[in-house]
Amino acid sequence: MTRRGGEQTRSVLIIGGGPVGLAIAALLLEGSAAQQWSVRLLEPRPAPQWARDDIDLRVFALSRASQNILRSAGAWDGIAARRASPYRRMVVWEGDFRAAVGKLTFDCAEIGEPDLGHIVEDRLIRSCLLEVLAGRENLDLRFGVELATVRAEPGGAEITTTAGETLTADIVIAADGGASTVRSLLELPVVGVPYGQEAVVAHVATECAHADTAWQRFLDTGPVALLPLTDGRSSVVWSTGTEQARMLSTASEAEFMAALQSATDGALGMISSVSERVRFPLRAMHARQYCSARVALIGDAAHTIHPLAGQGMNLGLLDAAVLAEVLRAAVGRGEDPGDLRVLRRYERRQKGRNIKSLLTMDALHRVFTRSGPLLAPVRAAGMSLVDALPAAKRALMREALGLVGELPEAARRQLA
Ligand SMILES: Cc1cc2nc3c(=O)[nH]c(=O)nc-3n(C[C@H](O)[C@H](O)[C@H](O)COP(=O)(O)OP(=O)(O)OC[C@H]3O[C@@H](n4cnc5c(N)ncnc54)[C@H](O)[C@@H]3O)c2cc1C
Repeated sequence: MTRRGGEQTRSVLIIGGGPVGLAIAALLLEGSAAQQWSVRLLEPRPAPQWARDDIDLRVFALSRASQNILRSAGAWDGIAARRASPYRRMVVWEGDFRAAVGKLTFDCAEIGEPDLGHIVEDRLIRSCLLEVLAGRENLDLRFGVELATVRAEPGGAEITTTAGETLTADIVIAADGGASTVRSLLELPVVGVPYGQEAVVAHVATECAHADTAWQRFLDTGPVALLPLTDGRSSVVWSTGTEQARMLSTASEAEFMAALQSATDGALGMISSVSERVRFPLRAMHARQYCSARVALIGDAAHTIHPLAGQGMNLGLLDAAVLAEVLRAAVGRGEDPGDLRVLRRYERRQKGRNIKSLLTMDALHRVFTRSGPLLAPVRAAGMSLVDALPAAKRALMREALGLVGELPEAARRQLA
């Protein structure tokens, strides 16, 4: 704890300037309580450069709760003004796209919402959060710098950087992604399974308009999704076995487009062009504990899940909002926010929700990648059954919007 202008300030070291790390910096430094903190953030990559004429290959389907969190952090209006693609419908199917059974359609009109979420670029989220943070006097942003070692004890935390600097803090927030260095160095245990799958990601132009709809077909090798982009193209997220993913990413453009057209059953007609393709390994991982003395894990550092329902970033932003709320409340009560008892309040609020999502995604993945003569018709009948139950569909849509359960104030805040 240090004093600035007679006021006590708590020092926070955020490791990782991905969307989740930048979001918690912005949430802590928002409003009148900002002066309570002195924040440092380390990020090995250079600062993001968003480009108006180039849609980032990394896009996320963000829920309403995430939209509210980014609005609370001061970044949503900048994102919406530049490029956010609302999706108003979602069509999920298995087998033949034109068959009478095996399809589920969700429409925002059925729940009186303007949309079911937005497709937003990674680089744009990070750029807008950085815009919000620019010029904060109690923030020290360091790009091109990586954490090398960390020592955390009840009395305080100390890290060294790859640039040879030693830094101390009251709290270290690990937002350093699925391969978290903080988590490994502190030997915080995880449970996890590699899916033996990778996701191939690209943008494609299609013959038919995407109609502001997220399309997803379940194949027995994994799901393939087409997410609507603002320029009329769709973002492909094709999860499949490692070997097929390698083939898809190295195939010629014509071969890839033909394979995608077949995999999506021609739902959007001919695929007429494809961008560069990149691959991401998929792994379900969950940290057994989200905190230890003076350290909290958030976002992918605490959990990674299958992208089939696009939830990883949404869970990470909720972690950031809940941890910021817990830390601010602790300081408001005169408590030491780095005390393990305080950090455990964050863990208690988030762990159950994250485990439930992880298990749901894992179960869905297993159900849809299992083949057998009876399974496919049973699954198709199940999807048609849910499609015919408006109340069940409304509940699923509200869940996907992230508007159920105990939410932090930042996620609840309504649109202006
Ligand atoms: C194919 C695919 C599609 C997805 N689609 C969706 C979706 O539609 N919706 C959704 O909600 N989620 C989605 N996700 C999940 C989402 O990508 C992640 O949950 C999200 O990126 C996690 O953000 P993060 O900030 O926690 O981690 P990251 O984005 O991984 O950021 C971690 C940061 O830490 C930095 N770092 C690493 N090591 C160090 C170190 N030693 N010192 C300092 N900094 C360090 C890294 O450079 C990086 O900037 C998808 C995932 C995949 C793979």
